Amino acid sequence: MRPEVAVVGAGPAGLLAAKRVAERGFSVQVYEEHSAVGEPCHCAGLISVEGLRRLGLEPREDFIQGEVYGGRVYAPSGEHMELRDSRPRAYVVDRSSFDRHLAERAADAGAELILSKRVEALDFNGGTAALRVRGGVLEPSVVIDAEGPGARLLGQAGHDAGQRGLLNGFNAELDGVEVEQGMVELWFGDSLAGGFFAWVIPTGDGEARCGLASRGDGLACLKGFLRNRFGVEPQARVRAGRVCTGGPVQRTVYGNVLLVGDAAGQVKPTTGGGVVLGGLCAGIAGDVASEHLGDGRDLGRYEGLWRRRYGHEFSLMLALRGLMNGLGDERLSRALQAFKEEGLQARAQMLLERGDVDMQAGVIREALTDPAMLATMVRSLGRVALGELLSLVQGGRPRG
Ligand SMILES: Cc1cc2nc3c(=O)[nH]c(=O)nc-3n(C[C@H](O)[C@H](O)[C@H](O)COP(=O)(O)OP(=O)(O)OC[C@H]3O[C@@H](n4cnc5c(N)ncnc54)[C@H](O)[C@@H]3O)c2cc1C
Repeated sequence: MRPEVAVVGAGPAGLLAAKRVAERGFSVQVYEEHSAVGEPCHCAGLISVEGLRRLGLEPREDFIQGEVYGGRVYAPSGEHMELRDSRPRAYVVDRSSFDRHLAERAADAGAELILSKRVEALDFNGGTAALRVRGGVLEPSVVIDAEGPGARLLGQAGHDAGQRGLLNGFNAELDGVEVEQGMVELWFGDSLAGGFFAWVIPTGDGEARCGLASRGDGLACLKGFLRNRFGVEPQARVRAGRVCTGGPVQRTVYGNVLLVGDAAGQVKPTTGGGVVLGGLCAGIAGDVASEHLGDGRDLGRYEGLWRRRYGHEFSLMLALRGLMNGLGDERLSRALQAFKEEGLQARAQMLLERGDVDMQAGVIREALTDPAMLATMVRSLGRVALGELLSLVQGGRPRG
């Protein structure tokens, strides 16, 4: 059968896009190179409460492992600041089960899942791409490319999507460790996790998921971190994956191909979380593909639609990531100390309570327009370091 839409990759973005297309009554096939959905799993599994709702999903016991109320942020000096909400702000999710749930929903809507089938190439003829798979060539009307971080197919076809800021990330599951349930830990430091941070996420009684991403030798850094923090070596196999921190790619529509999810860099550059924003953009791609098939509307609309809705979020988060990357250990430690000494913890706490875990532009803007917070940041970080963020905030809503 020639599907109207072919999706490359059965991660969250591909599955959410496929469900949307199938619900609109069009035929859609999802090609996944692995033999099972959700495997191998390398994700830390934090998904905001609000984000799950935005994706139209209920929290279900079969994939929720816990709730997160707040966290402790550790500066390179070891000093920390604690922020805690009275209501759960995020879920800890078992990503394999979560992805399987998305696959079931897509299949229930009518999408066909084809496992163990790698898409080997996109063959462009003019503006139309066909899919080369083992045993044949497929000519769908629309291709949704959801192949994840460091997507290769478009590059091989001569279109460099230009993904930047990919870091190597590592995750280890620990048991027999002491962690406070409901509170995550984020550890910053250039030698620990340059360009990102290390995390500890409680997953159950005495259990935690611990990982980091970094510009350097992340695996060695993680082993060092586990020794320092818990006095342990990784007990089980450490999972590796790539974390996108460079923001969206320049272009996400190539003829009949729409790029979505990590493949499009639709990931929060601050935290590397891509399930929610990537999933929301994938939903838009599913709608645009369906409207193209139904009414002949232009596929190029996808580019403007997702950028208008989320572009300013990505821009501000990317500027914050740039600021963090350029600070260095000393200034970062100084800033955290200044926040505590100048009694700004309560203000930060208030921002956490009001702020949105996924759409972070609002909270970034509020922090930079709060006179006391801004003065402390300028004193401890320097106005030059804040330059890009300040100009974005003062310049209104930039596009991503
Ligand atoms: C260490 C780590 C921790 C993370 N923690 C979080 C977190 O806590 N919260 C969060 O929101 N995000 C997190 N992320 C990011 C999150 O995993 C991604 O944003 C999300 O998985 C992106 O979904 P996707 O569908 O775009 O891509 P993926 O989930 O990567 O799925 C892509 C799929 O495409 C398949 N594929 C690739 N090429 C082909 C091909 N040619 N043919 C067929 N199939 C193909 C792959 O096998 C894969 O199944 C983390 C990432 C890492 C590495």
